[in-house]
Amino acid sequence: MIRMPWTSASCPHFVLEINQKCNISCKGCYKKMGGSTKTLDQILGELDIAMSKRRIQTVSVAGGEPTLHPRLCEIVSNIHGRSLKVVLATNGLLLNVGLLEDLKKAGLDMVMLHIDEGQNRPDLPPDPTLEQINSLRSALAEKVAAGDIDAGLSVTVYHKYFDRLPQIVDFILNSRHINFLFATNYVDTANLLKSVHFMQQNQDRFPDGSDSSSSQSSRTTNQQVYEILKDSFAIEPSAYLPPARATAGAEGHMAWMTYFMPVIHLESKTERFSIRSNIINLFLRSFSKLTTGRFTFYSGNKPFTTAVMVLCSTLTSRRPIEGLKFLAKLRHSGAHLKSKYLIFENGPMVTENGDISCCVLCPNATVSGNQLVPVCLADYPDFNSMDGLSSG
Ligand code: SF4
Repeated sequence: MIRMPWTSASCPHFVLEINQKCNISCKGCYKKMGGSTKTLDQILGELDIAMSKRRIQTVSVAGGEPTLHPRLCEIVSNIHGRSLKVVLATNGLLLNVGLLEDLKKAGLDMVMLHIDEGQNRPDLPPDPTLEQINSLRSALAEKVAAGDIDAGLSVTVYHKYFDRLPQIVDFILNSRHINFLFATNYVDTANLLKSVHFMQQNQDRFPDGSDSSSSQSSRTTNQQVYEILKDSFAIEPSAYLPPARATAGAEGHMAWMTYFMPVIHLESKTERFSIRSNIINLFLRSFSKLTTGRFTFYSGNKPFTTAVMVLCSTLTSRRPIEGLKFLAKLRHSGAHLKSKYLIFENGPMVTENGDISCCVLCPNATVSGNQLVPVCLADYPDFNSMDGLSSG
C-alpha cells in the first residue's frame, strides 16, 4: 500500500461550499445550517483562493444542499471552464431530467448522491431497511446515468449499522451505474469538540487524553473498516493518507484509505479483480502529474486504462493467469469493464494532548475567512486551523 504522493500544494481536491441551507436533515451532518446562500462573486472568489494555494484537479460543489442555489449551473460552468473536473454533492431530492440536462451542458462530471441511513427524507420511510435505501440509490443513479453523468454514492458509516458495510460495498461493486463511493466514519463533531474544549480547560485532570474515549465510543474508524473489508472481500487499500497527528488509542490509523477495484459486468453477474501492485499505482499517479501538472482525484471510467492497470498488476504481482482470465471475460457479449473507487475518511479524532487530529493535507479542504480549512471543522472557528494538517 502506498502513501498518496500528494503535498499540501499538489493535493488535487477541494470542496466549494455554496450555501448553508438544506431540504432534509441528516444525523451525520457536521454542518451548522444557517440558511445562508453565498453570492456568485463570493463563490468564485473562494475558488480563486483555493486555486492559488493548490494544484486542484477536481472541485466538489457542496452545501448545505447545492441544488437549492439559484445559480448552480453558472457555478458548475465556471469551474468546468477552468479545466477542472466538477462533482455535485447532493441528496438528489431536486434532481430531475431538466436540471440534469442543464448540469450536463454546464460541464458536470459526476453526481455524488448522498442517500443514507440516519436521514429524514420524504422519499424514504422512517428507519428504512437497507433494501429500501439501495432501491432509492439505484433509481436516482439510473436517472443520473441516463443524463450521461457519472454517479457516485456518499455514505456515513454509523456504529449502529456497521455490519451493513460489506453489503453496501457489494451493492457498489454490482451496480451498473455507481462507480464511486465516498464513505465518512460517523463522528458527533459538536460533542467531540466540546470534550476537547473541556480537556484543554482542565489539562491537569486529563493529562493523557483519557476523556476522549467517551466521546469517541459511538463512532467508527478506518481501522474497523479496513478489517471488515479484508475479512469480507480479501481486499486491501491501494493508497492511504496518515492522520496529521498521533491520536489517542489509534496510533497508525489511516486517515484516508482508497480502494481501486476493476469489475466486469456480465449479463447475470459481476466479476471482480483486486489490484495489488503498488508500483503501478504509484506510476500511474505520478504519470498524470507529469503529463498534466496535477494529480488525478477523479477521472471518470476509462476501460482501456483499467485494462492496462489489470495487465500491469498481474505481471508485477506474479499472477498473470488470474489477470488474463479476468480480461478474457470481456469476450462475452454485453460485457462492460468498469473501475470502482472506494474512499474512506476517518474523520476527526483527539490526540493525547487533547488537540484535534484529522487527515494530513485534508483533501476535503474548503475556504473560510480567506483560508483553507477542513470541511469537517469549518463551522467551528476555534478548531478549524489547517496548522499541522497541511504538512506532508
Ligand atoms: S480533515 Fe479534511 S479530509 Fe479529514 S475528515 Fe476533516 S474535512 Fe475530511
